[in-house]
Formats: sequence, structure tokens, C-alpha cells
Amino acid sequence: MKKKYLIVGAGFSGSVLAHELCKHSSCQIDVWDERNHVGGNCHTKRDEETGIMVHEYGPHIFNTDKKEIWDFVNSFVEFKPFINRVKANYRDNIYSLPVNLHTINQFFGKSFGPDEAREFINSLGDKTITEPASFEEQALKFLGMDLYKAFFYGYTKKQWGCEPSALPASILKRLPVRFNYNDNYYNNSYQGIPVNGYTELVEKLLDHPDIRVSLNKKFQYSEALQENYDHIFYTGPVDAFFDYKYGKLGYRTVTFEKYTADGDHQGNAVINYCDESVPYTRIHEHKHFAPWEQHDKTVYFKEFSKETTEQDIPYYPKRLESDKEILNAYRAEALRILNISFLGRLATYRYMDMHHVIGEAILFAASYLLALQKGENPPVFPNTED
Ligand code: UDP
Repeated sequence: MKKKYLIVGAGFSGSVLAHELCKHSSCQIDVWDERNHVGGNCHTKRDEETGIMVHEYGPHIFNTDKKEIWDFVNSFVEFKPFINRVKANYRDNIYSLPVNLHTINQFFGKSFGPDEAREFINSLGDKTITEPASFEEQALKFLGMDLYKAFFYGYTKKQWGCEPSALPASILKRLPVRFNYNDNYYNNSYQGIPVNGYTELVEKLLDHPDIRVSLNKKFQYSEALQENYDHIFYTGPVDAFFDYKYGKLGYRTVTFEKYTADGDHQGNAVINYCDESVPYTRIHEHKHFAPWEQHDKTVYFKEFSKETTEQDIPYYPKRLESDKEILNAYRAEALRILNISFLGRLATYRYMDMHHVIGEAILFAASYLLALQKGENPPVFPNTED
């Protein structure tokens, strides 16, 4: 008898999981998503007016250092190489990001070589900080006050809505600092963008006779619903699953102001606006994510960050200490329910990139099927909470 599964959410977590379960076992899967499209926040769609492929929920540049993940996504759709080279606008000057030798030389009006720059930046770092406990301390220890204030303080305050001293150091550790002219935003060796967008990739993952996708379908847990399925995999927000009974987890969300124009607006895919006085965090111009296409017109978006309300789509988990307490209460409760697993960025409340989500969903499908085979309890979460 085929197992019957319900997967809640048709983003990368849900669709990779559905694909893997069908590939490696005999099952029938319902995939529900409350939006009118698959792909979650990675959804892409051609803009009607300009014909440009738009990343509807903000820029997504696929990057990974794992060949198996790169091969996995490339086995479904064509990717073209794309290197993200982000610029920063600070006090009406344009700088190179992530902070690299060009940024340092531009900012300080120098012509340092790599070793001189390293020595100079080391001399600016705050020596009193041994174990950086926050975003701010991490920046002050490794970059010093001036670079921190210019490129990180205002941007981070706008993006996260709080002082960078209240944020974990791990957020800053996402960004490299380089003492050469490499301005590739990511360190990962495999980088690219799917030629026909991410939604096609997700559609292909879900294209299987045993997968039935229902859009505009809201999930509400009930024991009666659960009786229809051998197992439910939930990839939505974990606090929403439990009707917020222990409180709401903090997220930042982003909103966009859309502009269309002739030609080229800013000459680059992403420009960050680091001044605190500029209300938006960045401008993305989507034709530059597909330099292999020709478009006479352009479409670009100013991105604003704000606190998430019930009407907004959650983007960035804040993970403040108070959030972690709430999360642990939900996790403890989740471990007590049978036949439900929680997977992905929203259900595990973590800041995850696409390649993390995909890799974790592949592994989770394998560990679920192994548990089934051994007659053991299925895994509830893919991770343990730190
Ligand atoms: N950040 C910053 N200035 C920048 C770019 C990033 O201060 O110009 C900080 C900001 O707090 C952000 C973090 O570095 O949340 C990580 O940046 P990343 O580009 O990885 O953020 P994402 O792409 O997830 O928005």
C-alpha cells in the first residue's frame, strides 16, 4: 500500500522533500500551499510590462560549495553562471562590497597592497574584544569603528530594526572581508541563476504522477485531517502551526516599491544603501540578474525592511533570546505529537540559504525513509536547537 503524505508548503523544502520521497519510496503526496504559486519566496515571474524575469520576493542568487547540490539543481533546469557583485552607496559615494581591498583603498584614500591593508585594518580593530558576543562586537573587532559605521551600522539597523549590538555575531559572519580585489559577494564555488527562473525548477521537482499540488489552500492542523495521512510534513512557520499559543516569533519582512523605466537604471543588479537616513536598504534591478537577455526597458525595486505583522510574509528570523525561548516551547510541544515533522526555514526558524534548504530536505527525506524501514519513530526536526 502506498503511504499517504501531506506536505504543507511548496517552497524548496516541501518540493525537494516531495521529489525525494517519490523517488525513493512508494507514496502519494498532497502538497498544499496557501499562495497562488509554488516556489515560496524564491518565486520568479516575467514582468508583464518589460518581459524581465523578476524575483518576486527579492533577489535570489543560487550559490553553494557542494557539487552534489549544484548537480542536483542543474539536473532539473538550465543554470547560467552569475556572480553577484554588490555595490554600496554611502554618503553618495559608490564602494565595492563585500569589504575588500578596493573598498579599503577607496574609503581611506589609500593604495595599500594586501599585507599593508591587513596590517592597517588590524590596527583599527578593537583589541579589548576577545570573544565577540554581538554583530557590533564582531564588526568592531575585525574592522574597527569607521568601516563598521559606514557599511554595517546604518544598513543593519534598517534591515533588522534594532541596534546591531542586540544581534548575534553570526549574521555578520555571513559576509567575508577580503584583502584582495575579489568582489564576488559569495565565497561558494558554484554560483548561478536558472535561465527560466526558480519557479520552473520547483515545478519540475513537483512534476510526478504521485504528487498532487493544491494552491490557495490554507492548512489548519486537526486530528481529523491527520487521520487522512500516514505523515504530515509541515514547512510553514512553527508558531502559526500552534496558533501562536506561546507567542509570536520575531521576523523582519521586506516590502518593495516598483519602478519601470527605459534603458538601464543603475548598471548593476544590487546596490545597497548604507546610510541610516535613506529609508530603503537596497535597490535591485532585475534585468542584471539575466545578463544573457536583451531588454529595452528596465524594472527595479526599492526594498524596505520592517517588523512582520500577521498580514506580512515572514522573511528573516530575528532569533533574539526571547524568540529562542518561545521557539523551544514550540519545539518541545512538536516532539510530543506523533506523525508530524517540521522542516525548512520557517518551521525551524533559521536564517537559511536556498542550498542549505535543499541539502537539508534531501537528507531529511533519507532519514525519514530509513526510520520507516527500521520501524523507528520518524525524525521530527532536521536539526537540534542550540
Ligand atoms: N549587511 C550590512 N551592510 C551591507 C550588507 C549586509 O550591514 O551592505 C549586514 C546586514 O545586517 C545583513 C548581514 O550583513 O543582514 C548579512 O548580509 P547578507 O547580504 O548575507 O543578507 P541577505 O542577503 O540575507 O539579505
